[in-house]
Amino acid sequence: MFTVLTSNLIKPYIAITLLIVNNSIFPSLPEMADIWQQTLNWQPTVHQQTQFQQLYELILEGNTQLNLTRITEPLEFWEKHLWDSVRGISFLLSGNNHNSPLSTPVAPLGEDSRVGGFPDLSELSVETPRPHWLPSSPSSPPSFIDIGTGAGFPGIPIAITVPNCTVTLLDATRKKISFIEKIQAALSLTNVKTLTGRSEVIGQESQHRQTYDIALIRAVGTASVCAEYTLPLLKQGGLAVVYRGSWTEAETASLENALNQLGGVIESIEQFTTPLSHSIRHCLYLRKIKTTPAKFPRAPGIPTQKPL
Ligand code: SAH
Repeated sequence: MFTVLTSNLIKPYIAITLLIVNNSIFPSLPEMADIWQQTLNWQPTVHQQTQFQQLYELILEGNTQLNLTRITEPLEFWEKHLWDSVRGISFLLSGNNHNSPLSTPVAPLGEDSRVGGFPDLSELSVETPRPHWLPSSPSSPPSFIDIGTGAGFPGIPIAITVPNCTVTLLDATRKKISFIEKIQAALSLTNVKTLTGRSEVIGQESQHRQTYDIALIRAVGTASVCAEYTLPLLKQGGLAVVYRGSWTEAETASLENALNQLGGVIESIEQFTTPLSHSIRHCLYLRKIKTTPAKFPRAPGIPTQKPL
């Protein structure tokens, strides 16, 4: 691998580099060390940056055969796939990266805020202790499941970022899981497990039901569908992280109704803006407080056809 071209300036501070790998030319991802640090109080090590680049190249390559993602430009990929994935679990990172190549002081972000009548935890992203609503068993690394992972988001960036956690990547499409297994081997991700199947079926299997500390779900369905897919797989006290674009009060009410039936509550709703395109995003954190009744998740297709 070697650099053939640099300094194609898109913004004054960002240079795009092209790399040649196995006779293919790939753009190089920006490092964004300062933005990682300022927004999430974390930044990738050299090894993690290399893994992000490898992931990007494999996805660009895989896109020629499989319809994996429309987000292929380096800056967009960095923001919408890498940063967005890691943002959802930033509560696990704060001040946590002892390998960080920089130790610059962190400026608090002013843009994060919580909506929906929940406490304002706006300083959470930096210099704050772990909030009381963090997942259970803090003494051992949490186990994750990413439901409907597609090309591996948010699960793979999280597996790279938190290498001591185990991340199970679940998708209903065998081809997508085969592709993820290729990524897993190429990046030597020993903390990743893969699973092909529908969450409605996997959620009823004793080896998976009530087993995970954190369930991740992005771009799979409405919030109440996401709640029905995630809650049965969580241990009691576990947390579902539901990645959303927009969010409204009306959606909060219908999600609460679904959670009442599933044994969960809304712990927190975070609204934030993305660091490059300044788009609004939300993360919902749902806590499982009671055992989910055995009838959930319902049979494949029912959660979407007859939402709770
Ligand atoms: N989470 C990824 C992919 C979203 S596309 C991202 O944010 O980029 C939705 C994915 O969910 C598809 O790959 C689809 O196969 C999968 N999916 C949809 N319903 C599912 C279900 N019930 N169980 C498992 N996977 C499902």
